[in-house]
Amino acid sequence: MSKSVIVIGTGNAALCAAIAALENGAHVTLLEKADRAMAGGNTKYTAGAMRFAYNGPADLLPLLRNPDDPRVKNADFGSYDTAKFGSDLLGFNDGRPLSEEQEALVNLSGETMRWLASHDVKFEPIFSRQSFEKGGRHVFWGGLTLAAENEGVGLFDMEMAAVEHMGGTVRYNSAVTGLLTEGGRVIGVRLGDEVLHADAVILASGGFEANDELRVKHMGPNWKAAKVRGTPHNTGDGLLMAAEVGAAEYGLYAGCHATPMDLHMADFGNLDLPAGERKNYRKISYFLGVMLNAEGARFVDEGANFRNYTYAQYGAAILDQPGQFAWQIFDSKVFDLLYAEYRFHDAHFVEADTLEALVPLMTGVDPDAATATLAAYNAAVDAQTAFDPTVLDGKATQGLTPPKSNWAQKIDEGPFRAFPVTGGITFTYGGLKVDGQGGVVGKDGSTIPGLFACGEIVGGVFFAGYPGGSGLTSGAVFGRRAGYGASQA
Ligand SMILES: Cc1cc2nc3c(=O)[nH]c(=O)nc-3n(C[C@H](O)[C@H](O)[C@H](O)COP(=O)(O)OP(=O)(O)OC[C@H]3O[C@@H](n4cnc5c(N)ncnc54)[C@H](O)[C@@H]3O)c2cc1C
Repeated sequence: MSKSVIVIGTGNAALCAAIAALENGAHVTLLEKADRAMAGGNTKYTAGAMRFAYNGPADLLPLLRNPDDPRVKNADFGSYDTAKFGSDLLGFNDGRPLSEEQEALVNLSGETMRWLASHDVKFEPIFSRQSFEKGGRHVFWGGLTLAAENEGVGLFDMEMAAVEHMGGTVRYNSAVTGLLTEGGRVIGVRLGDEVLHADAVILASGGFEANDELRVKHMGPNWKAAKVRGTPHNTGDGLLMAAEVGAAEYGLYAGCHATPMDLHMADFGNLDLPAGERKNYRKISYFLGVMLNAEGARFVDEGANFRNYTYAQYGAAILDQPGQFAWQIFDSKVFDLLYAEYRFHDAHFVEADTLEALVPLMTGVDPDAATATLAAYNAAVDAQTAFDPTVLDGKATQGLTPPKSNWAQKIDEGPFRAFPVTGGITFTYGGLKVDGQGGVVGKDGSTIPGLFACGEIVGGVFFAGYPGGSGLTSGAVFGRRAGYGASQA
């Protein structure tokens, strides 16, 4: 007899879980806290970029909606094997070995992308952000090459179409408030006074990034002021209800993905912006310039690595600065290389023809210290090495702390622009422990019967940082696993 499965949430993880459970013949009901317009959680706010292991273009072409796009033939996608994906994750583990969850993410990433494509969830190359033109070709860098067609909203639409096509049902404005148990087994959910029974429940309700009390509890007082880049609905509800039935906390609760964001953006992300503009409050071209804090000091190596490998940590670095803001400074040499978000109609910046005139416009910054820092930076730039944003060019500062290890050009050609930024939290890393079928593990180490989890709510996948595009892949890998697991519960 087919099983009944309740999925909590309608983000990427929830929809992948639903597709997998439906494939296995389950009756699936998705319960979504938001209304229809705001359904889809953080997934809808994303650029839809997904990181996965591939051995060359032959692995990518079947995933594309338009493999005949002439730019595809003129692109160098390179390869990104499981060893490279694993070593990229290891680079953010602060010395930890790859966790079981990371091993699963890496090893199942390619087949999960093929599985999505088999459900007509299709992708396109990220020409604008992940490649530079070199010798007339689009050269991809950093191992991240594809995004869902029409970004996160497109991913949601394509996955939701698959769910509906396969007979899944969705209830909006349906915040789950607790889990029903009987004899240690989860047998359904509560929505206030209403009760719904099911053979299995899948928690896919995101992290706690939009809950300022939980942020402060787990991550410290600096995080109260953080902007929330995505949905206001990910308030840790699933984590709290899982704890009530004995689930163990797992992973790094003090860790999160947080990026530099426009200081003057609203407190949450804005889904009303058209596709292509939703990510525009993010400001991550810092590797082309420098960042100064209120004391006029630099505080990170802006060119430590490709920005895919630094942007998720530098939001936290900004929140650690006095006043919890910074300014990003660029000269006209790089204006054309800055991401489109710097030309966004609601991008905040100041501009002047000289650095002397720019510095006093940077509100909140010690002007004398800033002038001295910029002079010291310019004096430390290696003038011999050529600048090349398609590679780690080694064009570094000499004798500066912190150094700028790549792409260190002088900031000396006016006009100059400075953009005020703060830290915006994307999602939290701490969560629940799941077993190989996606079942939630309790404090005593045994799986809680009837309870499954996937997506941001799963812990142990990310620690000190995150190679861009891994969040959606994680949601898909663990969503598919939880959907199969729940349909056999
Ligand atoms: C601005 C932004 C850009 C990003 N860009 C990328 C990217 O390009 N690539 C990438 O890999 N990752 C990206 N991420 C990260 C990515 O969004 C997440 O990793 C992923 O979307 C998480 O999916 P999820 O299904 O776990 O959670 P979500 O998509 O957040 O879904 C959680 C759902 O649960 C619902 N919910 C919460 N509580 C309840 C409740 N009590 N009852 C019922 N429903 C509930 C929420 O309303 C929501 O719909 C980005 C995130 C943001 C914010």
